[in-house]
Amino acid sequence: MYYNSTQDKSKSVASAQAIAQGISQDGGLFVPESFPQLTADELKGMLKMSYRDRAKLIISKYLTDFTQEEIADCVDSAYTVEKFGSANPAPLAPVSYNGAELNLLELWHGPTCAFKDMALQILPHFLTKSLKKVGGGKDAVILVATSGDTGKAALEGFRDVEHTKIIVFYPVDGVSAMQKHQMNTQQGDNVYVCAIRGNFDDAQTAVKRIFTDPATAQILDEHNMMFSSANSINWGRLLPQIVYYISAYCDMVNMGKTALGEKINITVPTGNFGNILAAYYAYEMGLPVNRFICASNSNNVLTDFIRTGVYNKNRDFYTTVSPSMDILVSSNLERLLYTLSGNNDAETKGYMDALKSEGRYEVSDSIKTKIQALFWGGYADENSTRATIHDLFEQQNYLCDTHTAVAVSVCDAYIRETGDNTPVVIASTASPYKFSKAVLGALNRGEMPESEFDMVDRLHEITGAEVPAPLASLKGKTARFGDVTDKEDMQGVVLRALGIEA
Ligand SMILES: *Cc1c(COP(=O)(O)O)cnc(C)c1O
Repeated sequence: MYYNSTQDKSKSVASAQAIAQGISQDGGLFVPESFPQLTADELKGMLKMSYRDRAKLIISKYLTDFTQEEIADCVDSAYTVEKFGSANPAPLAPVSYNGAELNLLELWHGPTCAFKDMALQILPHFLTKSLKKVGGGKDAVILVATSGDTGKAALEGFRDVEHTKIIVFYPVDGVSAMQKHQMNTQQGDNVYVCAIRGNFDDAQTAVKRIFTDPATAQILDEHNMMFSSANSINWGRLLPQIVYYISAYCDMVNMGKTALGEKINITVPTGNFGNILAAYYAYEMGLPVNRFICASNSNNVLTDFIRTGVYNKNRDFYTTVSPSMDILVSSNLERLLYTLSGNNDAETKGYMDALKSEGRYEVSDSIKTKIQALFWGGYADENSTRATIHDLFEQQNYLCDTHTAVAVSVCDAYIRETGDNTPVVIASTASPYKFSKAVLGALNRGEMPESEFDMVDRLHEITGAEVPAPLASLKGKTARFGDVTDKEDMQGVVLRALGIEA
């Protein structure tokens, strides 16, 4: 299995190279040259398997330059009961909402309480093995731009991993108090955290620029280091996400919610388009899916895109209660366009160039038709998001976070608008306690306490929902980091954090 760049498919690398490098030198993203197929028999065989065995089978179809032992080692080190609380790190929770059954795929039982752990607990293992194969003895410098959850999950995944250093940038006013405290208290000798004055897109753009700047690469090279990425542009992030959709399908069959071979719908609260793309890749492998419901918050650039074929980031940016989805440039959409254009690198590059120069592009009729046959886009504004948290709790005594609420709200709208009653899985992407202020506010139960931790306690009193240990233990930890920088200075911050510049 080789991987091509979406913007120059003459570039062809093995998975270790794709993972170590993160992004192609031409600025394109690595995609598998074709999708390995999952036969009906294989899917049937997986029904009886543990999550880890399902993961090993799926991952081995893609990392063909890894041995079975290496893959098993990665999977067994990542998805432990100790880290995820159970042998199934991604359990399904069926709830009934406004009369429809929704199956919430809880992806937040890991160490940082967001779905990012599903990928970022295994990525460091993929990466250290990849570096042994292709890194030439260099240390990897992981640069991360985060809208909140990736940063903490990456810090936790990479902390004290040998031959790696990790630097995280987050928008100073764009993350929740809990997210900020999670990152600023991070332990580990190879970690550095810095806020930037700007939004997530500013952080992501600057990181991409530093990343692809030949002069900076040269400086790192002289110090025996190389950049790598833990953002969802890295193939090693997407691959583990394919696993849980296939695993969820198996669980749906085992729970009698669908018959083997029958189609399901999948709803994903979407920001950078990584999580929903992984679901689409599962479909390309043969997973029976009828529709992907792409849920956005008020930053609804994807809703408009799916409905019109025009992607236009020239619009107001909103800071919402679902900050991990406050994104106007959804990087992984590039990979979908590449596949839907029939692996046309020139066409994909054309769209991305237009996005860079004009902030806008319009896809071909052929792509638009394919997208609309498979995807449905909708968004939930702040009021609908809050109302959904409130109503789901009132109806089912089930507490969901703001991002999951966006997905539930959009899925509910989809069902009412289309009458489609295909069994549906909804990606539930964070613990409600990670966004206590907004979640508690949505429940509308009297006065709000002052501190985020008191809100956690209050939320627990009201709902009885268990507070995840990693969040409970944050109380009383002192911050190690607190720097804020301008986006123009990020490159200097990186070089100083690496000890290259004084
Ligand atoms: C990152 C994140 C999302 C968005 O996922 P993408 O892969 O960027 O589309 C949604 N919800 C939560 C809680 C997240 O952390």
